[in-house]
Amino acid sequence: MDTHAPHGVLAPLPAMDVAGRAPRLVERLAAAGCDALLVTTLVNIRYLTGFTGSAAMLLVGPDGLLLVTDGRYREQAAEQLAAAGVDADLHIELTAASQFQVLSDATTSLRLGLEAHAVTWADQRRMQRTHFPYVVELVATEDLVEELRLVKDDGEVARIGAAAAVASTALANTWTLLYERPTESDFGLALDSEIRRLGAEGNSFDTIVGSGPNGAKPHHRAAGSARTIEAGDLVVLDYGAVVDGYCSDMTRTVCIGEPSATQRRMLDVVAEAQAAGVAAVADGADTVAVDRACRDLVSEAGWADAFQHGTGHGVGLEIHEAPRVSWSAPGTLATGHVVTVEPGVYLPEHGGVRIEDTVVVTADGCRLLTHFTKEADPHRWPSPPTT
Ligand code: ZN
Ligand code: ZN
Repeated sequence: MDTHAPHGVLAPLPAMDVAGRAPRLVERLAAAGCDALLVTTLVNIRYLTGFTGSAAMLLVGPDGLLLVTDGRYREQAAEQLAAAGVDADLHIELTAASQFQVLSDATTSLRLGLEAHAVTWADQRRMQRTHFPYVVELVATEDLVEELRLVKDDGEVARIGAAAAVASTALANTWTLLYERPTESDFGLALDSEIRRLGAEGNSFDTIVGSGPNGAKPHHRAAGSARTIEAGDLVVLDYGAVVDGYCSDMTRTVCIGEPSATQRRMLDVVAEAQAAGVAAVADGADTVAVDRACRDLVSEAGWADAFQHGTGHGVGLEIHEAPRVSWSAPGTLATGHVVTVEPGVYLPEHGGVRIEDTVVVTADGCRLLTHFTKEADPHRWPSPPTT
């Protein structure tokens, strides 16, 4: 197994068993009513093969893997399959027609599963009429690969943790700028640049810097915002990094200067709710119960109407993936799931407070992957690392 070391200051990352994933998918095909699966979701292709190109289709069946992509990825595809230790039949075909011909030739008399969420009605009709006529039965499947992706292996958790560490260090290295009256856009740019400088591939989503009334909009984006961060503002910082394809996600809320009595109470209530949510996460925990652990404390404080989003979501190759942690999404957490816990209180006259950690579920609880302090006064933070 190779050890993947991204550029920059990141330590080498442990290898992942990418090649072990497709056989686990094949075991699930019969129960889904198909003999093979045509994977067209790029992030799922990456998960199963290590290939990161922007166009490909992957046929997964009992006879192995067949990857088709185009001429732009001739070298990259071969290199990435080899680096991941994945044995796949690689076809470079320049047109969609020839790509489907290769797939069609390999799928005679099969029940061929399609990823229903990724195939449009038009695609399905075209495949049925033109690409897989008569002999192949197309079967709609749901979340076959996504269900495998739910449980992260140690290499995946290490990547999410490395991304979280980069994000934390980036904030430690840039927070003093918050006291120089930056615009939200300026501070977001400083944070984003530092994330890249520290060796991450980029941001896992558009950085949120929500100061003053903007903090009361849960997804207020920093980019393009000319609002100046002022004394007395609560500032919601929700951002993440990407390392070797894996995302991190963390929110911290700081107060510039002394918080008002209401702001102090918001900070305390959300911190308490967030801690209660984290404490409720464990193998076998009900996702609705984790949501309730947070929400009950916010409701008891009289702010039920000021917390109008779910408590959390899965994190991995995508910033939002299964499982959801919400009153509206019943489910059970299991060892190896990686989820966020992120209650918030949003009051336009006072600002917003959200605190979010990403955790990995363990047999008896969970382990934090985001270690940054939750103290709201940056002047009380430990002195910043200098990496
Ligand atoms: Zn977040
Ligand atoms: Zn989140």
